[in-house]
Amino acid sequence: MAEFIGRPFFSCRSCRNPVALPDDVLSKKFYAKWGPAYMFTNVTNVVTGRTQDRKLITGVFAVADIYCSNCHEEMGWKYVRAHDPKQKHKEGRFIVDLSKIVKEY
Ligand SMILES: [Zn+2]
Repeated sequence: MAEFIGRPFFSCRSCRNPVALPDDVLSKKFYAKWGPAYMFTNVTNVVTGRTQDRKLITGVFAVADIYCSNCHEEMGWKYVRAHDPKQKHKEGRFIVDLSKIVKEY
């Protein structure tokens, strides 16, 4: 957990498990299941669910829901595979709903 010491980070709103760093925010212009969301290049302390195809605003993707590793609150999803070649840059990225995280300083 050393990477979270002495710098701001995002944590799970329910249990305060550290899940992401502001440096890893790739885009703030996303909209997830519950509202506005951020795209991250990397998250930590989450577990992924089963990969399944889902139709999103920008097309069909194979996605896996992500859950807090501590309290198992659903937080968003991981783009596993894009069916549209133009959306390939999203593969391996994570969408985290802002209503599920809180920024810690
Ligand atoms: Zn949690």
